[in-house]
Amino acid sequence: MVGEMNEPPYRARQITEWLYHKRVNSFDEMTDLPHPFRVRLSDEFAFGKIEIVRVLGSRDTTRKFLFRLGDGALVESVLIPASPALYGSRSDRRTICLSTQVGCAYGCKFCASGLEGFSRNLKPHEILEQIIAVERESGEKVDNIVFMGMGEPLANFDNVMRAVRIINAQWGLGIGARHITLSTSGLAPQIRKLADEPLQVRLAISLHGATDEVRNQIMPINRRYNLDTLLEACAYYAKRKKQRLTFEYILIDRVNDTPDQARRLGQIARRLGAKVNLIPYNTVQGLPWSRPSSEQQTQFLSILRASGVPATLRREKGHDIEAACGQLRLQTKRELEAATP
Ligand code: SAH
Ligand code: SF4
Repeated sequence: MVGEMNEPPYRARQITEWLYHKRVNSFDEMTDLPHPFRVRLSDEFAFGKIEIVRVLGSRDTTRKFLFRLGDGALVESVLIPASPALYGSRSDRRTICLSTQVGCAYGCKFCASGLEGFSRNLKPHEILEQIIAVERESGEKVDNIVFMGMGEPLANFDNVMRAVRIINAQWGLGIGARHITLSTSGLAPQIRKLADEPLQVRLAISLHGATDEVRNQIMPINRRYNLDTLLEACAYYAKRKKQRLTFEYILIDRVNDTPDQARRLGQIARRLGAKVNLIPYNTVQGLPWSRPSSEQQTQFLSILRASGVPATLRREKGHDIEAACGQLRLQTKRELEAATP
């Protein structure tokens, strides 16, 4: 863009320095740019308007941020404090969970984000502004990024990749690709496309079922790309990237928590050299699902471990603050709707 404005190329570097390192809120504050250029920039480009509507939780716990975007749409991010062995990191990383779409078109039966359907993709700047706003509000520096908020990141491929490149770049947020994790419900062709991208981002697959029968019940995407198709794409990714994948597996009472599912999941993960994150289901208001008892959870974990798969059972930090994806937005929308006749 700077090139097209007949300015010297180093202007681009000056602008990114102001945007991503010094974090100013207007072109006017970019004091090493000539005044007329600042005026032209303000005329032609708008600073993203992202507004924090609600914050839940407090320091040292999981905090949830609800944002209103320029067009009034609501999205949310979660800030997870340093804790051992979360996604893509050994320990001590402050993780932010980002949204990539307003709503979600994939309609997984257990998920709050899909409940009201899909509205639109987020733009790259709307993805980045979640990080910048959360850092500003919390005073903390984020150093691990997971795309596990609202929306399906691989269905908004180009915008997400543009945001990822800026998050990764030294002139941007400077976060290593191995500290950036994309999560997908199973868009097999896009997994292959991501495998062919040069960036070494990590990939997590929301598996939630170890057979087509179980996945078909709860994840409509499985009717388009069944388990075999998905796992072939996963194998391709792991091989191209020489990377250990993560399978996310929410434990839902009497849906996917049987010993048989645990054994099959173990076989799948071992075959692909993947690790497994078990997540006890977070209840969503209006949906019939619940988490299994803790004995049942532990039994599932032991079966996995016995089959030689590295597996963790997430102690859900945000359960009490509606931290699962899409829930705060849904709750706030319902409150707002109830308040306006
Ligand atoms: N669309 C992508 C990323 C966003 S969802 C995906 O599906 O992977 C991020 C994770 O939250 C997914 O693993 C999803 O299955 C999980 N999730 C959704 N609703 C949940 C709930 N109520 N409790 C626990 N995890 C949930
Ligand atoms: Fe969309 Fe992921 Fe929720 Fe499924 S789990 S509806 S893909 S956000």
